[in-house]
Parts: sequence; structure tokens; C-alpha cells
Amino acid sequence: MERDLYDEDHDAFRDMVRDFISRYVTNAQRERWDAEGEVDRETLRRAGEAGILGLAVPEEYGGGGMLDDYRFRAVVMEEVIRAGAGSLAGALGIQDDLVVPYFVHFGTPEQKARWLPGLASGEIIGAIAMTEPGTGSNLRGITTTARAVEGGYVVNGAKTFISSGATADIVITVVKTGEGDGPQAFSLLVVERGAEGFDQGKKLHKMGFAGHDTAELSYADVFVPAENLIGGEEGHGFVQLMKNLPLERLSIAVAAAAASEAGLEWTLEYTRSREAFGQPVIDFQNSRFQLAGVAATVDALWAYIDKAMLLYRDGKLSAEEAAKVKFWTTEREGEVLDVCVQLHGGYGYILEYPIARAYVDARVHRIYGGTNEIMREIVGRQLAGRR
Ligand SMILES: Cc1cc2nc3c(=O)[nH]c(=O)nc-3n(C[C@H](O)[C@H](O)[C@H](O)COP(=O)(O)OP(=O)(O)OC[C@H]3O[C@@H](n4cnc5c(N)ncnc54)[C@H](O)[C@@H]3O)c2cc1C
Repeated sequence: MERDLYDEDHDAFRDMVRDFISRYVTNAQRERWDAEGEVDRETLRRAGEAGILGLAVPEEYGGGGMLDDYRFRAVVMEEVIRAGAGSLAGALGIQDDLVVPYFVHFGTPEQKARWLPGLASGEIIGAIAMTEPGTGSNLRGITTTARAVEGGYVVNGAKTFISSGATADIVITVVKTGEGDGPQAFSLLVVERGAEGFDQGKKLHKMGFAGHDTAELSYADVFVPAENLIGGEEGHGFVQLMKNLPLERLSIAVAAAAASEAGLEWTLEYTRSREAFGQPVIDFQNSRFQLAGVAATVDALWAYIDKAMLLYRDGKLSAEEAAKVKFWTTEREGEVLDVCVQLHGGYGYILEYPIARAYVDARVHRIYGGTNEIMREIVGRQLAGRR
């Protein structure tokens, strides 16, 4: 089904993204990221130079000035995922969708001037650390503390599963600055690479997204200057997180649809050329029925997500709507990619094939950004009138 989300500016931008991919997202590069467990800095700097990173950063700080209009980011996601480079899509997504918005929305003028230009150019890599070894879904259960001292804070605790955590230059860290677990107990502190007592730990060996680092972080009496407190005032961390989570969930949904569409394209190509019993696999009625189902699902995914992108642009994507979009789309993605792997036969299980990588990458979409059970809980609470 033809989508009507994009105009000629997006089409021209898509050409730029394709040009970037044809030059810098080769198979050899992708294999190198997988082997090293991270996307190299040079590629991120090139993405910054090409204007496909930092889209959410205001123009005055060297970015694209498109935080509210997700369509340009969606173009990047679609093209990078279609190129089979899920790990690069992940690295770009953490920076633009998860890290930059905290500075744009809540940063003091000094914080914006200090960090946004580097985040836009790719000179600075950012991460956000919420999850801890003992708690993920229940954010209010975190135990990492920041004790106020002369000129700043002393942070103690541990985080885990942090995307871009090993390579990050700055990590927005969710800390407790107050007592209890009420919203005012939490703040966001920017902890910088190299701070004494801050260990960016080992990269975790994951099922998918092999080329994007995910790390454990530990904080042992780390001094963080007061000027690194996002927004400059304590006790706003929880509200800041709640404001940005819908965007994180929208971006996961876009990645899910992009991977589903790419999966369909790879599978059409494969089943047209692969023969069994003397005929192309696509000529079996079962293959055509399965592909018809996948094609309809991909149309439905985009129709739903395109609407969500417009709601987001207009400031109307509620937490509940974002949660609904996130769980529904990522579950459809799982079904679609499962069919696509099956139609590839044995080759669908081999990581050289993009469908196999997309399949393992997709699994985490139902887990991170808030698990799908938590998404259903958010929606269910609203339906039950208990927001
Ligand atoms: C590859 C990867 C990248 C990640 N990147 C980041 C990152 O950059 N930053 C970051 O902070 N975190 C990140 N995470 C962490 C991720 O967000 C958490 O793993 C996720 O929120 C779940 O938390 P948990 O692992 O502690 O699971 P738990 O909270 O222990 O949940 C375990 C199970 O219990 C279920 N459950 C929990 N509570 C309820 C409930 N109330 N009702 C019903 N079921 C429930 C969950 O849905 C899940 O199925 C990442 C994780 C992965 C795997």
C-alpha cells in the first residue's frame, strides 16, 4: 500500500541516506562491527557529517532541528535496516532518540552548548542508563545513589544492559537524590567517560545486534560536578523520563516496521530465485499465502505507525498510545520475521543472511524500551480507568 507520509524533502533526504549507505555501510564494515561488538566512531562521525545523525539537535547547535518531526529519522531507520545494518540503526537510534532529547528538552543553556554540537557531529557518543542488575521494569526500584557534596554529587551503584554503554563519552544516569520512591526522589546526572571510579565494564555477548555494544556500568564513589545535573534542579528525573519514553517507544515501533518490510523484500527476492521440486519456492501456494499475509501485515504496520508519527509531531502521542503502538508492532514483527526465516529454509538460520540477523535483532524489541507486558499494563490501566 502506498504511504502518504513523506513529501519531496523526505525523498531527497532518502537519496542522501542511500548515498551514505552505499559508501560507508558495506558488508565488510558490518562484519567488522559484529566482530568488534561496536560501531566504529569514524562511521558515526561520517553519519554526523552527512547529516543523518543529530537530526533531533536544534540547528543552532549544528543539527537538523527535527526533534518533533520523526519522519526524517524514520527514513534513516528504514534505509539502514534495509541495508542489513541493524546495529548501526541501533547506535544512531540511541543517540538521536534516547539521548539528545534530554538535552534539548531539559538541558540548561550551558549543557546544550557543551554537549549538543558533539552529539550532532558524532564526536560525542551518548548513552542512557536506567536499568540496574536488580531492577528494570520497576524504575522506582533503582538503588544507584547520588549524595550531594561540595560542588556536586558522589555516585554509587551499578547499571546493566546499557546500549552504547562501552563506547559512550557521556552517560545520562538515573540516580536517587532523595528518599523513598516517589517521583521527586530521582534525578538525571551526566557521568563522563574517564571519571574516577566510573567503570564502563564489559560488553555483554548478545543474541542479536552483535555490532552495537551493550554494557554493564559501575559507579564507585564517582564525583560528578553539579553542572552535570540535567536541568540544574534535583528531583525532576522521573518526570523527564516519562516525557521522553513515548519517543523511545515510537522509535522501536519504526524499527520493527522497517525490519518487517525489509524481511518481506529479502524473502520475495529469495523465494523467486530459489528452486525446489523444479519450481521457484514462490510458486508453491503455501509460500504465496504466507507472503500475502506478511504483505498485509507490513501495510497495517505502516498505516498505524505513520499515524503515530503524525500524532507525535503534533504533540499528541500519549504514553498509552505509544505503549500500544510499541507492543502491537513488535509482536507483528516477530510473526513476520518468523515466516520470512521459514521461507528461506536452512539459509534463513545462517547469520550471513540479513533475514537471520533481523530475526535475532527483533527479539529484543519486545523486551527493551519497557517490556511488552509493561506496555500492556500501561494500556490496561488506562482502559480500567486507573491511570
Ligand atoms: C539489548 C538490550 C539493550 C538495552 N538497552 C538499555 C539502555 O540503553 N538503557 C537502559 O536503561 N536499559 C536498557 N536495556 C534494559 C531493558 O530496558 C530491560 O531489560 C527491560 O526494561 C526489562 O527489565 P529487566 O530485564 O529487569 O526485566 P524484569 O523487570 O526483571 O522483568 C522480567 C519479566 O517479568 C515481567 N514483568 C515485570 N514486571 C511485570 C508486571 N508488573 N506485570 C507483568 N509482568 C511483569 C517482564 O515483562 C519480563 O517478562 C536493554 C536491554 C537489552 C536486552
